[in-house]
Amino acid sequence: MPLLSCRRSTPSLNLSNPIKINRDQILDRSSSDCPGRPEMKKVLLLSTNQATTPYPVPPLGLALLYQRLRVAYQVNFLDGFSISSDEVRRQLQEFQPDYIGLSIRNIDDMVKGSTHSYIPGILETYLAPIKEQSRAVLILGGSGFTIFPDELMTVFGADFGITGEAEEAFPLLLQALELGGDPSQIEGVVLPGKKVTGKTRPSLLLNAPFSSDLDTLLNYAPYSERGAYPIQTKRGCVHRCIYCSYPILEGRTFRKRTAVHVVDEIETTRNRIQNPGLVFEFVDSTFNDPPGHAEAICEEIIRRNLRVTLRTMGMNPVNINGNLLGLMKQAGFAQIDSTPDSASPVMLKNYGKNFTIAHLQKAAQLIREYAMPTMWFFIFGGPGETEETLLESFAFIDRFIHQDDMVHITEGLRILSTDAAGGAGDQGRAHSKGDFSALTAFLCAVTAG
Ligand code: SF4
Repeated sequence: MPLLSCRRSTPSLNLSNPIKINRDQILDRSSSDCPGRPEMKKVLLLSTNQATTPYPVPPLGLALLYQRLRVAYQVNFLDGFSISSDEVRRQLQEFQPDYIGLSIRNIDDMVKGSTHSYIPGILETYLAPIKEQSRAVLILGGSGFTIFPDELMTVFGADFGITGEAEEAFPLLLQALELGGDPSQIEGVVLPGKKVTGKTRPSLLLNAPFSSDLDTLLNYAPYSERGAYPIQTKRGCVHRCIYCSYPILEGRTFRKRTAVHVVDEIETTRNRIQNPGLVFEFVDSTFNDPPGHAEAICEEIIRRNLRVTLRTMGMNPVNINGNLLGLMKQAGFAQIDSTPDSASPVMLKNYGKNFTIAHLQKAAQLIREYAMPTMWFFIFGGPGETEETLLESFAFIDRFIHQDDMVHITEGLRILSTDAAGGAGDQGRAHSKGDFSALTAFLCAVTAG
């Protein structure tokens, strides 16, 4: 392709307005059409997640980073779910990246008693070819990395890491490396051997229109078979459930996208894929928090008469009401997840839930009244669980949950201390105090070896 056809005018990011990405830029695919531009540095983004249970999860965060970077870099995207180490080797040889962004989502499978760590497989399949064949700057990130940055920096021998959201910190890091800036001054950037500060750099992407276009970046078949197309309407969570990593990863405030931006993404994706079986899933911390936001999104979908099929993760019982459920039905919701985790007043308090048993019972009654198919999630065996509290949860299930709905029960939980997060401010990270013995044992073995 002749260079004149490349529409990029500059390889540099405009840091005075780093998120000013217009719709043409987002939908423009020309970054990978300009292989000959000597000044355009090359970034390989590699998702290492191969977990298949309970279902495969597409790499949404890395796709959004791709959309962010491609404005100024030549970017290739590799989804570890469908590639082998040979494919990684081939990509490294052909693409010759200057930078490699490696995302680590899951540390282990969290199966109590027979925990399987994903780290050895990631080292063998992805890191080994990189170390053998590439001299690119290696940058780690992802939710698993955000929780264990020190340990994973050591094990992977990485040049840099990014905790929390990467859409701002990653391009700033690349620019610092290219222009001689100081990476340690960028919030969220982790340097080898340096203490993690706990600060992260929240993405400003949520303020602008964006679309992950995930299906155009990878083989989407494994995800569409059992999963749904992920859509974020916000990031962060103000609540303090004792085991939850959402506030650690995304911060302790709700940062909302506008209803118009959210529905624009749904509409353009629906028009592009044109599959009547397509299901969109809202993958926020809690879909119906803060009050009014979910309603606005449903109203926008109804106004456009999109005729889409929708489902959502976490519905907070406090904000479930007849108006919202009616709008959700009208907008196209075919299923919701409800995650009370317990129906014992004692355990709701122990888990740090922001709702009472009265909220939960009222929400369950409304869900039945509006005939909304629901997957219910419970965690048994948390701090303070007794036979009596277990029986309270079972009594709730028997009395309030429709026999056609599904109930998923997990035994035991891990607790991440949130003390450090609170002390570090809104975007702080936490130190693990939970039972991560398999990971710890593995990391000790690797670092000692
Ligand atoms: S409400 Fe949901 S996302 Fe928020 S802290 Fe609790 S479990 Fe996590």
